[in-house]
Amino acid sequence: MKNIEIMRRFNTFTIASFLTGMFLAVSVLRAQEEAPKNIILLIGDGMGVGQLTVMKTMLGDMSLDAFPVGGLMTTSSLDNFITCSAAAGTALSTGYLTDNGMVALAPDGSSLLTLLEAARDRGKAVGVVATSSVTHATPASFLSHVPRRSQQFEIAIQMASSGADVIVGGGRRFFLPEGEDGGRKDGANLIAEMRQAGYTYAEAHAPELPDEGKLLWLLADDALPRADERPYGLGELVEVSISLLSQREEGFVLMVEGSQIDWAGHSNDIAMLRAELGDFEGAITAALAFAERDQRTLLLVTADHETGGLSVVGTAADGSDMEGKWIWDDHTADMVPLFAYGPSSAIFGGLHSIDHVGRLLHSLLLP
Ligand SMILES: [Zn+2]
Repeated sequence: MKNIEIMRRFNTFTIASFLTGMFLAVSVLRAQEEAPKNIILLIGDGMGVGQLTVMKTMLGDMSLDAFPVGGLMTTSSLDNFITCSAAAGTALSTGYLTDNGMVALAPDGSSLLTLLEAARDRGKAVGVVATSSVTHATPASFLSHVPRRSQQFEIAIQMASSGADVIVGGGRRFFLPEGEDGGRKDGANLIAEMRQAGYTYAEAHAPELPDEGKLLWLLADDALPRADERPYGLGELVEVSISLLSQREEGFVLMVEGSQIDWAGHSNDIAMLRAELGDFEGAITAALAFAERDQRTLLLVTADHETGGLSVVGTAADGSDMEGKWIWDDHTADMVPLFAYGPSSAIFGGLHSIDHVGRLLHSLLLP
């Protein structure tokens, strides 16, 4: 009897653990099925609903029309109702709120793992592309950890050793020493160091670019020229970056920032805003073209905050006489739009806080 009882218990246990195992296996399979191989996060800095209205009115048909999932995101930081780009970038990249001005650090100074670091640690290729200096707050939040966003020379050191596969944008002066076209007082030539570490370095607009390997492409001393004053678009830079990153078998994660949408807001300049939004559309188009071919890429288009408190008015039905009204020249706490396309896009629908979106992104990186 005893043996039968033991057998029965054993069988119950075995069946239970078998079923649990099956359930886990199915869950893992399902997660693997649904989790994207690649993630491209496109951030329109300062792009609120007003800016999006200008974009749609100006463009008519646009890439975002193809995104099946939409939502809104609150952007407040830990210590401020109105966030700065560093705290917002940190929330998106780490999943944690922090104080304004801090870059991928908690208020107590402890380091927060960024999305690109977590992806890199899983063998994925990672990269950033921005129209500001690559050491500016948003890209910095994905590849460095400093208490103050103004520490761009320190950010450059950390980016140089981050292991990122692609770094594209402006900001040469933060990588070069004084006397050699740079502003570094420590004498370090980070570009030379990165070349030694295997990076191809380019600074021309139409350079001979490698078709594989790591790329540091710094097209300006500080920020890139504004979109209507340079002969190339953000979309071109994104295309090059994707063609390099997509060679990694384990997949890739790329952060793209339309940095100067924010600056158009700070200067209440509608003409500049239109040019920057058109440029950002080029980046979304390039990312979408890849995602449509690839079918395993999640695209997320969002902003880190709104800038200027922009509302759009006009009398013509087609918006041809639209006019922007700004409430001031700084960031606001307005919610910002969020669009998703591709595997796992559904989880981004609805209303989120900015740090929650960061946590959702981390959750898509499987162990
Ligand atoms: Zn910003």
